[in-house]
Amino acid sequence: MMKNYELIIIGGGPGGYHAADLAGKAGLNTLVIEKHRLGGVCLNEGCIPSKALLNSAKQYTYATQGEPYGIQAKDVTFHLNDVVQRKNQVVKALVAGVGFKMKSAKVTVLEGTAEVIKKENEMFVIQVGEEVVRGERLVVATGSTPILPPIEGVEAGLKANRILTSKEILDLTELPKQLVVIGGGVIGLEMASYFAQIGSQVTVVEMQPTIGGTLDLDIANELKKTLEKQGITFILNAKVTKVDTKEVIYNVNDKNETIPFDKVLLSVGRKANTQGLGLDNINVELTKGGAIITDSQMKTNIANVYAIGDVNGQSMLAHTAYKEAEVCVNNILGKADHIQYEHVPSVIYTHPEVGSVGYTEAEAKAKGYDIKVSKLPVSYSGRHLAESNDKSGLIKLIVDQKKQTLIGAHICALYASEIILFLSAMMQLEIQIETLKQIIYPHPTVGELIKDALFHL
Ligand SMILES: Cc1cc2nc3c(=O)[nH]c(=O)nc-3n(C[C@H](O)[C@H](O)[C@H](O)COP(=O)(O)OP(=O)(O)OC[C@H]3O[C@@H](n4cnc5c(N)ncnc54)[C@H](O)[C@@H]3O)c2cc1C
Repeated sequence: MMKNYELIIIGGGPGGYHAADLAGKAGLNTLVIEKHRLGGVCLNEGCIPSKALLNSAKQYTYATQGEPYGIQAKDVTFHLNDVVQRKNQVVKALVAGVGFKMKSAKVTVLEGTAEVIKKENEMFVIQVGEEVVRGERLVVATGSTPILPPIEGVEAGLKANRILTSKEILDLTELPKQLVVIGGGVIGLEMASYFAQIGSQVTVVEMQPTIGGTLDLDIANELKKTLEKQGITFILNAKVTKVDTKEVIYNVNDKNETIPFDKVLLSVGRKANTQGLGLDNINVELTKGGAIITDSQMKTNIANVYAIGDVNGQSMLAHTAYKEAEVCVNNILGKADHIQYEHVPSVIYTHPEVGSVGYTEAEAKAKGYDIKVSKLPVSYSGRHLAESNDKSGLIKLIVDQKKQTLIGAHICALYASEIILFLSAMMQLEIQIETLKQIIYPHPTVGELIKDALFHL
């Protein structure tokens, strides 16, 4: 007999499993359909595994470059195999945790690939292998996959394992001598940082004039300078035209140039997973790029169909997926809720890290805000100086003069990932600059840079 649910969620990544957890706990009879592994990209091949690897690289860097700090370590070796194995254990533990969460929220988990067949008698009919299930409401949380651009040699390179995406590179157990990263966005930079720290010669080829995608220009330039000091080469304004068996060919200033490689990481962006999902059977509207169009309540154009996480193409971050899951379930339960994307922080886990929230200086100006900007180098922080001889890094605060609140905060420094949490809270709560100045900041912390920057406004 066909099983009926009050809510069917397709995809068990951060968006899907968080929505399922909340809906299950709220008493909705909920089903999650997952074709691969609970935890999605984030837990299995994204946020968590990449941070496990980056942490091993950081420990290696501290061990091998301790001399200026009075530490001499001999015969320090980086066992890539062991590092990857540890990463796998971390992933396994977290994925098991998601399974446990589903059980305790009384959510049913069905393994298989879901396809939406039709809407019949106010119910969405979904095919999962041999099984057919029906749901009163549908949440699409199918995530995203790497874009494979139509560059000559990419298809063959992927087949031959010369070219890797962000998925395969996490399991590399042989260190590439020369790694070429195509695409200097967040994923490309994190992997460039990892491999450069553990001994690869890394070149990043980027089509744009700056790195880090939508980063504030000052921060992007600072990060670039720091990563260059660590041995990473950047080739900007360069368009890759071909990847043959040993060289990446790119065009810069109308000239063709080449770089030799052992491995290439292709990290030119991600696309929403909507193909083959049967969304056209119920007329769900998509963007030209194939992402599901949603409003700020996560509703699609079809009543009772919601889309959360990477599949709606809004921000492609795990914490956005979490927030969207909360907004979506609240709306399902009749509690009005919405998301404000300008409050979503983002982090790049390079060494040092970058944290950003709100508008960049250029964006704030383009939007017509009357702004005041405070910019300070990390050398203002006693803790930064105590812990690092590298003085590169900065904090940049952007203040709306009219409202006297933060509308943008950007930091390239040690612990930036933790510091940005405070800044995004202050921004989201629209705390006045005068109040922010009155807060007692613990000393010595890198976060104290916020206070210094505020007093330099
Ligand atoms: C290398 C890397 C590092 C990253 N680091 C960070 C980070 O540090 N911080 C951060 O915030 N974000 C990071 N991200 C992004 C983050 O992983 C995604 O934003 C997040 O996973 C999106 O969650 P989601 O639930 O939308 O989708 P996903 O995690 O992609 O999950 C979707 C799930 O749906 C399943 N699915 C798809 N189609 C079907 C179907 N037809 N039937 C059944 N199941 C289906 C998939 O198997 C998958 O498990 C990183 C990504 C990568 C690749």
